Amino acid sequence: MTSTPAPRFVSVLRRENQDEWAVHRHDPDAPLLTAFDYAPNRGDGAFEAMHVYNGVANKPHRHLERLSRSLHNLQIVGPPYAAWRSLIDDLIAQWPDGVEGVLKLIISRGQEGGPIDQDPTVFGYLVELDPVLAAQRRDGITMVSLTFGYPADVRERSPWLLGSTKYLSYAVNMAAKREAAERGADDVLFLSEDGQVLEGPNSTLIWLSGKRLATPGSHTGILRGTTQEEIFSRAGAAGLEPMITSATLSDILAADAVWMSSSTRGIAAVHEIDGASIAQDAEKTRLLQELSGLPVPN
Ligand code: PLP
Repeated sequence: MTSTPAPRFVSVLRRENQDEWAVHRHDPDAPLLTAFDYAPNRGDGAFEAMHVYNGVANKPHRHLERLSRSLHNLQIVGPPYAAWRSLIDDLIAQWPDGVEGVLKLIISRGQEGGPIDQDPTVFGYLVELDPVLAAQRRDGITMVSLTFGYPADVRERSPWLLGSTKYLSYAVNMAAKREAAERGADDVLFLSEDGQVLEGPNSTLIWLSGKRLATPGSHTGILRGTTQEEIFSRAGAAGLEPMITSATLSDILAADAVWMSSSTRGIAAVHEIDGASIAQDAEKTRLLQELSGLPVPN
């Protein structure tokens, strides 16, 4: 029996003249970067990852807004909004229906040693969602808490720490995930050095207390999660009271329900943190999954 290869598409954005950028399709198996690119050399750039299903990207405007904030913080001048949209549309046009996809947008500062006014390196790709993430959306996750090492307010005071910036260097995030796996858990909840809950390596913390749906504030330097923002913008109409607030791990352990939200996994109910059981609310899990705009598990 021959298996069909998984769909994978890559497109590059290149400047054609002063104001125009054009999309060029790229063979997914062909090399794309030079040895000197800032992306592999320094992790100096930004990215976004959005969900694609049945020809539609989920909340692309929120991703592009966050990308422009990341680029502002990194002092990188990227292509205009319309060029990013063309890149997204070109990738989605090739994607088969009925398959959950992850569309990544990636931009680096360009070539190390290049001229100060050089163009950034810009490309995107669309691949299948890791089935483990879809399973976690359906079944929920276990977590461990790990220190992030900084006090909660330091990144607001120190712009060079690039708080609230989705920069390319995710080595720490990946190392934290490996640490969680070694400890037998699915994911990580980062804590500030002074004991506040922050976020996961690639997801946002949301918890329920009565009718209050809460998440930590981005003044702590965490990323403003587009999924959390989308859910909170619609939660009031669904009878919940969204709020941004600080909390400690013991507040979270005492919550009526806890979720991690992200663009690719969607809403995953947290069953356990550091071995302690977390209260479950299946009805609210379903509601938040509906509000997230991703396919709701059966
Ligand atoms: N926090 C971090 C550090 C992330 O990398 C992500 C993923 O993008 C999130 C939170 C969740 O954000 P979103 O819902 O936009 O995927």
